[in-house]
Amino acid sequence: MRIADKKISATQLVKEALEKAERFSDYNIFTFLNKEGALRDAKVIDERIAKGERVGKLAGVPFAIKDNFLSPEGDTTASAHILEGFHSPVTATVVERLKAEGAILIGRTNLDAFAHGTSTENSYYGPTLNAHDKERVAGGSSGGSAVAVALDIVEFATGSDTGGSIRLPASFNGVYGLKPTYGANSRYGVVAMCSSTDSMGFLTKTPEDMDLLMSITTGQDPKDMTSLPDFYNETEPKQIRRIGIVKDFDNDAVDEEIRAALKQKCEELKSKGCEIVELEMPILKYALPTYYIIVPAEVTSNLSRHDGIRYGFRSENSKDLSNLYGNTRNEGFMPENKRRILVGNFVLSSGFYDAYFLKAAKVRTLIIKGFEDAFQKCDSILMPVSASPAFKVGEKAGDPLALYLEDLMTVPANLAGIPGLAIPAGKTKTGLPIGLQLLGPRRSDKSLIQFAKEL
Ligand code: GLN
Repeated sequence: MRIADKKISATQLVKEALEKAERFSDYNIFTFLNKEGALRDAKVIDERIAKGERVGKLAGVPFAIKDNFLSPEGDTTASAHILEGFHSPVTATVVERLKAEGAILIGRTNLDAFAHGTSTENSYYGPTLNAHDKERVAGGSSGGSAVAVALDIVEFATGSDTGGSIRLPASFNGVYGLKPTYGANSRYGVVAMCSSTDSMGFLTKTPEDMDLLMSITTGQDPKDMTSLPDFYNETEPKQIRRIGIVKDFDNDAVDEEIRAALKQKCEELKSKGCEIVELEMPILKYALPTYYIIVPAEVTSNLSRHDGIRYGFRSENSKDLSNLYGNTRNEGFMPENKRRILVGNFVLSSGFYDAYFLKAAKVRTLIIKGFEDAFQKCDSILMPVSASPAFKVGEKAGDPLALYLEDLMTVPANLAGIPGLAIPAGKTKTGLPIGLQLLGPRRSDKSLIQFAKEL
């Protein structure tokens, strides 16, 4: 708006964003800054405005992409050594649609390598630090994107959410994060993690911004056969009045202050005329083990393409081809990537497939059914994003199971393909942001965003 009214130029805005990015370099937010490219793009926008030409809805707005979104600016590394030096010839559909509206890409943000993680500590480039406390983690895996938005470097950033990677860092840094309905945004051009749960979304400062971005990026993409027709722009949001609370998550495993924030939000909603509905969803306790079978199985398949031949890094001094594959993968993957490859191969191997993968697939169906039943009784479910606020850097680094536990409340939405919107809900006594999430039936993304606006 300010740009179209000529109150500030796109060049000025981009310069400010780049300056801030450099000022906050100690947070380790960016894997690449698109300095020259962004200024060049800004100049084009300014010239078009000066000539009175029409510009897009996001003209001159600086944004960042998680470094697993392909685009020709810099290398797309997914914060993994094995992709270093990989220059993408294609652009992810989501990024292409944002650019088509004039948004200006100022950089790529840090993540857990291949988006495997909850804290952005699994990055080849080291951890990103929390916007509110530099001793704490940013959350993950879209940690760089969350901190870039929280520190006001960019207006918004893209993220991918396979099991919570948008919502968790959003809540650890006090911003909004939407994991859309599976298929709402195209997955084309994003480094695949678990193709049946990967969802592309955004981290923003307001629900209004989220609404605008979704209205631009949703809609079928011929390059992604799982993308949905544009329900977002073609349906009216429904009023949310009955709020479901999952009793199964109201226990000591969840931090006292987070439970208090949830109760307070419920009181607030009641005073606004909402009805609170208590739900029992015992099936959700199986979501985490189910996720950690299905995801490694798909991860192992998706990561098999990284062999040192086709992309990025190649280990030198290998004596033959098989040795080259092995050395490249050994040197190029992070320990967490390897852990998932091993678990994935195990659960898919003959003799174990029925006991693990097939069973997990069946439980997944029950989880989908559990949500369908729940949404007969309520319009939206409100629950915490995580059991605790941001933890200290290194605190859980040696303990993969402790990190997996952080995903307890985020993975159900991914397994069921439903949307989840993380919203800021106050702070702890020590000043750390608390996040809650609104879940809704498939294709209710717009209703959730509308409800967040009303809140
Ligand atoms: N923390 C989850 C995991 O490590 C989710 C990751 C994600 O959503 N990309 O699998």
